[in-house]
Amino acid sequence: MKSSVVFKQLFDQTSGTFSYLLADRESREAVFIDTVYEQHQRDLSLVQELNLNLLACVDTHCHADHVTGAWLMKLTTGCQIMASSSAGINALDRGLEEGDKVSFGSHSVRVIETPGHTDGCISLVLDDEDMVFTGDCLLIRGCGRTDFQQGSANKLFNSIHNKLFRLSDSCIVYPAHDYAGRSSSTIGEEKKLNPRIGGQANETDFVGYMENMNLPHPKQIDIAVPANLHSGRPEDDQVPHEPDWAPVVTTYSGNLEVSPQWVAQHLSDIHILDVRTEIEVEEEQSKVEGSQLIPISQLRERLDEVPKDKPVMTLCRSGKRSVLAFDVLRKAGWDRVANISGGLLRWQQEGLPLVS
Ligand code: FE
Repeated sequence: MKSSVVFKQLFDQTSGTFSYLLADRESREAVFIDTVYEQHQRDLSLVQELNLNLLACVDTHCHADHVTGAWLMKLTTGCQIMASSSAGINALDRGLEEGDKVSFGSHSVRVIETPGHTDGCISLVLDDEDMVFTGDCLLIRGCGRTDFQQGSANKLFNSIHNKLFRLSDSCIVYPAHDYAGRSSSTIGEEKKLNPRIGGQANETDFVGYMENMNLPHPKQIDIAVPANLHSGRPEDDQVPHEPDWAPVVTTYSGNLEVSPQWVAQHLSDIHILDVRTEIEVEEEQSKVEGSQLIPISQLRERLDEVPKDKPVMTLCRSGKRSVLAFDVLRKAGWDRVANISGGLLRWQQEGLPLVS
């Protein structure tokens, strides 16, 4: 892969879905492929922490097994929503067709129409065929099912055999799903080893396989498909619940953080737990007014000293041990707890008041 492309493969365990973030290192412009509604906060934090300008969320098709995060991502970042113009999705800012390019900085992905799993399935090839995002068309040693949503084994054969298999052998295959812990393949490998369509398999072999699989009805289909026809926009426009006790940000690492500025302005509404060692506090001779001192090494034994009637904001020198304190409190049942971002170092940098 080119060093000028930022590439992230993300996984949703519940649905076995891969999401992909691609960005141009120079311009910071980015596109997300196949986001998952429930993973929105994770994906958004990654975009923000990497300082990316998200231009588009592209769905490879109208998914039947999970709801896309595209609408939520548009709401929070202003990005465009894109998918095939034949997918029947009515929330698109841009409908994609064969040969279209979705650009980000000096890079782009090119659209290959690969119907068969659904009529509106597309694959996306990066620049010089370094990688291809195959959605539910070609999977690792498998392929998308063809027994619902306009599925057609004959069309899928044509898409894989006559389109994807004509990409270069070294092109890395990144599918929308895997259920066995595999993360990527290559066109060359699948051409040779795919048990349904690789090696000497012809259309009759493939169709015979696909039409006799007898797969169970997908669990989420009745919820996912109607939602995905609106790119994941909820019927009541209700966005997922956000904490109302502080303007917290969920980081990509999964912690809740709050800015020192906000904390300094709300000292009477919250409780500050400082987890530095006694020696550090003595040497520094300063602390945030009203903060409680419990060294991180003693926190688990002294939990009953931490109040629950106010949101607890954890603090240490640099904001690292206080993340552990946040975690300890969360696991012990505190639901209103957040880490003060950057710790006392950032507190001092921002010129916020301390007492001796
Ligand atoms: Fe699918």
